[in-house]
Amino acid sequence: MSIQQNIQHLKSQLPNHVTLVAVSKTKPTSDIFEAYNTGHRHFGENKIQEMVEKYEQLPKDIQWHMIGHVQRNKVKYMAHFVNLIHGVDSFKLLREIDKQASNFGRIINCLFQIKIAEEDSKFGMSAKTASEIIQSKEFLELKNVCITGVMGMATFTDDTNKIKEEFNRLKTIFDSLKQHSNINFKLETISMGMSGDYQLAIDCGSTMIRVGSHIFGERNYN
Ligand SMILES: *Cc1c(COP(=O)(O)O)cnc(C)c1O
Repeated sequence: MSIQQNIQHLKSQLPNHVTLVAVSKTKPTSDIFEAYNTGHRHFGENKIQEMVEKYEQLPKDIQWHMIGHVQRNKVKYMAHFVNLIHGVDSFKLLREIDKQASNFGRIINCLFQIKIAEEDSKFGMSAKTASEIIQSKEFLELKNVCITGVMGMATFTDDTNKIKEEFNRLKTIFDSLKQHSNINFKLETISMGMSGDYQLAIDCGSTMIRVGSHIFGERNYN
């Protein structure tokens, strides 16, 4: 099936409360444009440099999602346009995003990346750290970021029960953090689910799925 068919088919299956982020990393702008022409506007990249290049070449009404690990010294390159940063895993990073956002008079929406997988390779903070950050005075002083949800990645495994357990854990963490809402902390998004597990993620409460290969085909890293 074509990219257009893939994305239309996928979206026709999604409940209304679930946003699809089409993950276009490593794919050419022509592929993104094909998806764009179906009316789709949310795209995700995991490298800042690549996202900036695509942003410059493509229509400006695209909503760009940074879904990868973010190095603090690169935040400045995307601060003028990024729509949502999924991978916020420390207060230091959040403070840098706040600083760069203020340079453009923007408020940048961010998600706390919570470590739910067992693998060491997956980034993220603990629920405890997230809870400490939002209750700190330093956090309240940040005027140019808003935490709008949480993001998590399940362990890479065929064990559905294990994935489900991890997704359920993220939903529980979301529910407990949500009690603390304030001016820069308004939880509404649970970003979880990829090509292989988005169905399960939705069953477990996901409101935002990040799907790449299921739409654009397998990635070639050569
Ligand atoms: C690449 C990536 C995805 C999409 O993965 P697929 O399996 O191709 O759907 C989702 N989330 C993150 C953080 C990624 O890096």
